[in-house]
Amino acid sequence: MTLTPAQTQVLAMLRECDQGRFEVDPRMREGLRARLHEDLAPVAGAITQPVFVGKAAMARVLACEAHEVAEAAVPFEWSLAAARGTVAHRAIQLSVARTDRPSPLGLVDDALARLADDPNIRIADYLLGLTDAERAELRGDVSEIVGSFLELWPPLERGWRPQTESPRRAELFDGMVILSGKLDLTLGAPDGLQAGRVVVDLKTGNRHAGHVDELRFYALLDTLRCGVPPFRLVRYYLDAGDLVAEDVSEDVLEAAVRRTVDATRKLIELRTGMRSAAVTPNPACRWCCIRNECDGATAFEEADQEARTRQ
Ligand code: SF4
Repeated sequence: MTLTPAQTQVLAMLRECDQGRFEVDPRMREGLRARLHEDLAPVAGAITQPVFVGKAAMARVLACEAHEVAEAAVPFEWSLAAARGTVAHRAIQLSVARTDRPSPLGLVDDALARLADDPNIRIADYLLGLTDAERAELRGDVSEIVGSFLELWPPLERGWRPQTESPRRAELFDGMVILSGKLDLTLGAPDGLQAGRVVVDLKTGNRHAGHVDELRFYALLDTLRCGVPPFRLVRYYLDAGDLVAEDVSEDVLEAAVRRTVDATRKLIELRTGMRSAAVTPNPACRWCCIRNECDGATAFEEADQEARTRQ
């Protein structure tokens, strides 16, 4: 099969991973767990209910604590935007397993049918209640994402051990702190103490500095799970066909630990009422659920407007 330049770039990146894989200290996993326990111990004693720490809550609490507190108080509701990612990932998961190369729309319909039948996934009721117009919009949007993936990635060989939507979870303090995430796509696996997994985050939309931190958090979760970190972290921007890779190193894991401790400490302090939330105007004011009643949103708008005028 002749590959496009974009597919060749992905393949080259995957092949590079066969060279120079590093070995880790067998005590790495316990060392990381001990470090997290030690750094969070001063606040962990105040927890009375499990505190869940995921990438979205971490990003929010580090940007504006009041935003995180407000979001945590609102029950989650499915929307077309939220469903888009879930259906796209399921369709890509199906594309990896299928050998008959179905069309993107065929994969989307298959994914929708499976999700609507899956009693373990809370999205089922939402999908069943969609109007014809909403369903058509969702099919069209997801079909584009899946089509981009199939066009830009080479067919994934079984020998690469592709896995999609792989959950990762690390429990600290007897399950009172739960770090969790879901890896879009992983390829390869560690071999003993030798790193060998590539973790891929599939992104729609523009690049964002926070995407680096999300993948580093996943690298930490993967290491806490199996004791060997991924070899490489890849952000793949489907709209642009752009790939950005970072090799995992001790510095990368250290950055992930520091950020995770910082965010988790703040989440514990806020959830347990140890202190009130700080208000920090930031770009998320534009979509924050309390933007209409928060002075921070006005402050951000004014500062943003001023910065644009100066440009
Ligand atoms: S509107 Fe802005 S400043 Fe106010 S809580 Fe939301 S993100 Fe924070």
